[in-house]
Amino acid sequence: MKASPVWKTNHQSQLSLLPPSYDDFIPGHHPVRVVNTIIDQVDISSIERSYKGGGTSSYHPRVLLKVLIYAYLRNLYSSRKIEQALGENVHFMWLSGGIQPDHNTIANFRSGKLKRKFKKIFNQVVLLLAAQGALNIKDIYVDGTKIEANANRYTFVWGKSIKTSRERIKKQLKELWSYVETVCAEEEQRPNEPDNFEAIDPAEVAKAIDNINRALEGKKVDAKVRQKLNYAKKNWPGNIAKYNRQQAQMGQRNSISKTDPDATFMRMKDDHMQNGQLKPGYNFLASSSNQYLTNYTLGQTTADTTLLKDHLEDFIDGYVEPPQILTADAGFGSEENYTDLENKGIEAFVKYNYFHKEQKQTKEQPNPFHSDQLYYNKDTDTYYCPMGQAMPNIGSYKKGTKTGFEQTITRYQALNCKGCPLRSPCHKAKDNRIIERNFNLMRLKSKARALLTSQRGIEKRKQRCWDVEAIFGNIKQNMNFKRFMLRGLDKVNVEIGLIAMAHNLKKYSLAL
Ligand code: SF4
Repeated sequence: MKASPVWKTNHQSQLSLLPPSYDDFIPGHHPVRVVNTIIDQVDISSIERSYKGGGTSSYHPRVLLKVLIYAYLRNLYSSRKIEQALGENVHFMWLSGGIQPDHNTIANFRSGKLKRKFKKIFNQVVLLLAAQGALNIKDIYVDGTKIEANANRYTFVWGKSIKTSRERIKKQLKELWSYVETVCAEEEQRPNEPDNFEAIDPAEVAKAIDNINRALEGKKVDAKVRQKLNYAKKNWPGNIAKYNRQQAQMGQRNSISKTDPDATFMRMKDDHMQNGQLKPGYNFLASSSNQYLTNYTLGQTTADTTLLKDHLEDFIDGYVEPPQILTADAGFGSEENYTDLENKGIEAFVKYNYFHKEQKQTKEQPNPFHSDQLYYNKDTDTYYCPMGQAMPNIGSYKKGTKTGFEQTITRYQALNCKGCPLRSPCHKAKDNRIIERNFNLMRLKSKARALLTSQRGIEKRKQRCWDVEAIFGNIKQNMNFKRFMLRGLDKVNVEIGLIAMAHNLKKYSLAL
C-alpha cells in the first residue's frame, strides 16, 4: 500500500514571543554586511556638504549610497526596482534600516548628488582593500571595452554630414546670388555682391537671404527661386545654428548621438542587437589588480591608444602616485604612450602592433628586405640595403599625431637602384628606394620587447588576460551590464563607478 505524504507544518499566522530583527536574517559574511562595513569607513563629507540646510529632513546620503552599491551588486540598476526591493527584500531593509525612499529620490541621488563625487569614494574603498592585501595599486593591468549608451542607434549626427550641409547652404546662397545678378543684368542694374557668403553663422545667413530678397524686390522672379528663397529664409538660419551647436558638442569626434550628445558611435564587439553595426557608446578603460578594479575612466573615442594618458593622470589624481608597473595589450603601444610611461617612471609591459608577428618571424625566416633588417652604421648614420649599397641620411621631418604629439621621422635613400636584380622583391617605387625611420619609437619598442620577452614579461602577458579581461566578462555577463541606464558623461561616470564598486565588493565578500 502506498504511504500517504507527510507535509511540513508552516505557521503563517504564528506570532513570535520575541520578534526577530532584520539582523537575524543576514548571514555573517553576506555581501550586504561587507557593503555596510566598508561604506561606513569612507569619508562622504563632500556629498554631505552638497545638501542645503533647513527645510524638511533628508535621507542620509550614506544610507542611499549603501543601498545603491548593494543594488548594483545584485544587478538591480533601475531606480523603480531598487524602490521595490527596499519594501520587499530583507537585505535591503536591513541595510537601509527600514527607510523606503521612492525611485525619484534614488534616481536624483545617483545622477545628482554622486555626480563628480563618486570617484573619490571609489578611490578610498580601493585603498581600504589594498590595506587588507586584496589588491596592489602599484602593479596594474589596463584594458578597454566599449559599453553602449542609452541612445537609439538611429540618432547619429556625423561630423562629415554637418560639414557637407553647411557647404551646401553656402553653395546655394552663391547660386541664388548668381540668379540675382542675371535678373539685374537684364535690367542693367547690377547690385553689389554681399561679402557675407563665406561667414556661415545664423545671423550672416539671414542677412544674405535678406540682401537677395531686397535685390529681387519688384523684379519678375522664377517661381522655383521664390519658393527656394522662402524655404531658405524659414529654415537655413535655424539649421546653421543647429549645425554649430552639434559641432561644438562633437569637438574632435566624428559623431555624436542626438539623445546623448556625449556618446560617440563605435563598433561594439558585443551589442544588445548582435549585428555588428555602429552604436552610440563609451569606451570604458579599466585598471585592475588581482581581478579588482583599481581605476576606471570613460573615453569618447574608439581607439584605446589615445585614452591611456588621461587614464594615468586620473589614477595619479586618485592615488597621488602613478603605478610602478603597468601591463597592457597592443592597443596601447604608441610612441606617445611609451614616452609618457617612461616620463612617469613606470615599468611598462605594453605590447606594440605586430609584436606577435615579429616574434613569429624571429622563429621563422625574417624578411631580409624589411627596413628593420637592414644594417645601420651609427657612426656614419647610414643604412645599407640588401645589395650592400649605402643609403645615406637625406633629412628629417616632424609630424604631429591627432593628439598633438610630435614625432621625428628620418629618411634614408639608396644611391642607385637602376638595374638592381633585387629590385622586384625590394621595393615598388619608381625612384631609388627611400626608408623612413623613427629612432625614438625604435628605442622604445626595443625596450618594450626586452621586457615582454623576459620571464616576468611572459607571466605578465598571461596574467593580463585573466586579470582585467575577466572583469569585463563579469560585468557584461554575470552582472548583465551591457548598456548604460543614464545619459551624459557625468552621469554614466557615476554608473560605471557604481558597477566598479559593486564588482570589487562582491569579489571581496566572496574571498572572506
Ligand atoms: S633595389 Fe635598390 S635598395 Fe633594393 S637592394 Fe637593389 S639597390 Fe638596394
